[in-house]
Amino acid sequence: MNRLLILFFIIIPVIGLNAQEKEKMVWNNHQCAVALTYDDGLNVHLDKVIPVLDSLEFRGTFYLPGNSAALDKRLDEWRAAANRGHELGNHTLFHPCAGKSMGREWVPPDYDLDDYTIGRMVDEIRMANLLLKAVDGKTRRTFAYTCGENAIGDSVFTGLIRDDFVGARGVFPRLENIASVDIFDIGSFMIQDKTGEDLIKLVTQAKETGRLLVFLFHGVGGEHNINIDLEEHNKLLFYLKENERDIWIAPLAEIAEYIRNHEIPAQQ
Ligand SMILES: [Zn+2]
Repeated sequence: MNRLLILFFIIIPVIGLNAQEKEKMVWNNHQCAVALTYDDGLNVHLDKVIPVLDSLEFRGTFYLPGNSAALDKRLDEWRAAANRGHELGNHTLFHPCAGKSMGREWVPPDYDLDDYTIGRMVDEIRMANLLLKAVDGKTRRTFAYTCGENAIGDSVFTGLIRDDFVGARGVFPRLENIASVDIFDIGSFMIQDKTGEDLIKLVTQAKETGRLLVFLFHGVGGEHNINIDLEEHNKLLFYLKENERDIWIAPLAEIAEYIRNHEIPAQQ
């Protein structure tokens, strides 16, 4: 075998490996990305979640409806959290949801999405952006569809809010591929009564497949009927900390911004 040929056999596999490795590190030089999102502006987010996130130097996304009692009473604490890098996400002003469906008796008639017009919904979302800007001074954030609803009847309003956000979180439980994710319908896993091990299993799947995983929490240690024990939630955070070399943990706005700027390599 001549020298050139030997060189060929040595170099080619290395190049091949690098390309493969590079592809795996597509999430800001990590194998996968994880966003921790918390809905509905609860006191437990300020009292239990944010302190543990801060202690681990993680930043989360908190979807705050304008009428959240914890926003009204503790506005300065939300502002301080935003100043430390947590995202205050838009979750409308009054959390409208389709109230005519089964199990939606809890929806107040004044805020029944079935009785909204598209224009009213879009106006409400934009006013919620103004409210949040008054709190944190920011103009770039994500939106979370209330009850996962992106339409009134058959009329989808997503197209009308594209210029108002860097992206939007949906509720379809799906690990997202950077090359195919719909930035205005980012999948998420709603967590109810799961163990820390269940959550870690999802992260492992995201790592193995090189995807984005978005967690959707409500109550953490109480305050909402969709709840997870604080201890189980924290097991996930400690696992993420131990593995943060491989996992990019960031607010969803930061990840969405990154996806928007990410160039999809040409297929070979
Ligand atoms: Zn909600």
